[in-house]
Amino acid sequence: MPKYDYLIVGAGMYGAVFARQMTDAGKKVLILEKREHIGGNCYTEEVEGIQVHKYGAHIMHTSSEKIWRYIGKYAEMNHYVNRVRVRHEDKIYSFPINMNTLNQVFGVVSPEEARARIEAAKIPNDNPQNMEEWVLANVGRELYEIFIKGYTQKQWGKSPRELPASIIRRLPIRYLYDDNYFNDCYQGIPKGGYTAFFEKILDGIELRLGVDYLANKESYNTLAKKVIYCGNIDSFFDYQFGELEWRSLRFENETMDLNDFQGTAVVNYTSEDVPYTRILEHKHFEHIGVIPDTGKTIITREYPQDWDRSKEAYYPVRDTNGHSELYERYKAEAEKLDNIFFRGRLAEYVYRDMCPTIGLALRFSEQELELY
Ligand code: UDP
Repeated sequence: MPKYDYLIVGAGMYGAVFARQMTDAGKKVLILEKREHIGGNCYTEEVEGIQVHKYGAHIMHTSSEKIWRYIGKYAEMNHYVNRVRVRHEDKIYSFPINMNTLNQVFGVVSPEEARARIEAAKIPNDNPQNMEEWVLANVGRELYEIFIKGYTQKQWGKSPRELPASIIRRLPIRYLYDDNYFNDCYQGIPKGGYTAFFEKILDGIELRLGVDYLANKESYNTLAKKVIYCGNIDSFFDYQFGELEWRSLRFENETMDLNDFQGTAVVNYTSEDVPYTRILEHKHFEHIGVIPDTGKTIITREYPQDWDRSKEAYYPVRDTNGHSELYERYKAEAEKLDNIFFRGRLAEYVYRDMCPTIGLALRFSEQELELY
């Protein structure tokens, strides 16, 4: 008889939430984590009294009351609202494209004028085949060139002509003076950082850090009745059909003897000649309205880069229709394995925000407990 009901590979969002739910239901759970810390890419580390998002900005946002209440069990949330600025050449713009932006670019004042201006700028296309065509058909060339073209080229290392429109569809275009990056009714960041939030979720659950499950997977599998694998699906199968393509990121952190570097948490740099895509200033994720005068700030420059096995996988690179034949082959292999479940963004080869990840982990735990 295996010692555990569930062996969970990965202490990121999916694994942690699933582990909590099953533990609370009386199941015996073991988590193996390859890194030396919990929280996956949500991990934050305190430096100079500032919570630094070590793997890029993480902001929770959802319209699901169920998910928001769940988060509230393990964290007190602050009232951070993501208001991104775009820097293009010497100008700072409001983003995503909203009335403030349209006023800055075109001088229009009312939503009606703005709609008319955008209508005139659109390059008609009934059937856009890629991201560039989709953006041109929706907002025209000028906005495309200021906000989308350079940033996307840097982010993906590919022309927007080679990318699916689905990537950009997650950004709204608003005829309102509302510059909130997200449309959801709940939004915020755990006070005290994500690591404290994960510590609470994982409280009392058996966890081994710095353990490479794949190096010994056959023997680890014998420990539990079921395995929830949250790592990269291709690495599980030893890349037998080849590597799935990902886009990776490199972060360059700098501590500055300054109280405030950029006056906001996130500035996207959309010009192609600036090598990074954004600068984060971490203290602005925590302090809203008034910044304590500590004389120190920490910024992160984010550089997109090609992925290889030595790098972290951030964004799956699917074809212009959003498909991946290679992933489908791995998925077919995964489905042959009875007691191993491939879950989470790395195992499912998807882009997925934190809140939907929590929702999926809750649903799967309910299914497993036959409450569904
Ligand atoms: N994007 C852009 N300009 C920006 C921000 C985003 O063109 O200033 C495009 C880019 O192609 C990016 C996509 O929109 O990959 C999705 O952006 P999002 O902010 O959702 O990316 P994430 O925050 O997940 O990196």
